Amino acid sequence: MELFAICCPECGASDLDPHTTYIVLAGEQRRIYHCPTCGAYFSETKNTPLAGLRTRLSRITTVLDALNDGMGVNAACRTCHGGQNSR
Ligand SMILES: [Zn+2]
Repeated sequence: MELFAICCPECGASDLDPHTTYIVLAGEQRRIYHCPTCGAYFSETKNTPLAGLRTRLSRITTVLDALNDGMGVNAACRTCHGGQNSR
């Protein structure tokens, strides 16, 4: 069983075809999937908390690791050079 399988946000089908890739502002590559069941095209981050983020995932991981290690929000953001409201 795959915990994070990508499903179509329109019909819920899990049999998807990779379509294209694109580069987000932070330089990371994201994939566009095509659902052969309903014909929808969507990004791998659609309907996730990561949709629309402009911050690198590696930077988010660094901040979350700092928070998990007991660092406060202000200290974690200062250490990682980001504001509390950074997207
Ligand atoms: Zn679909």
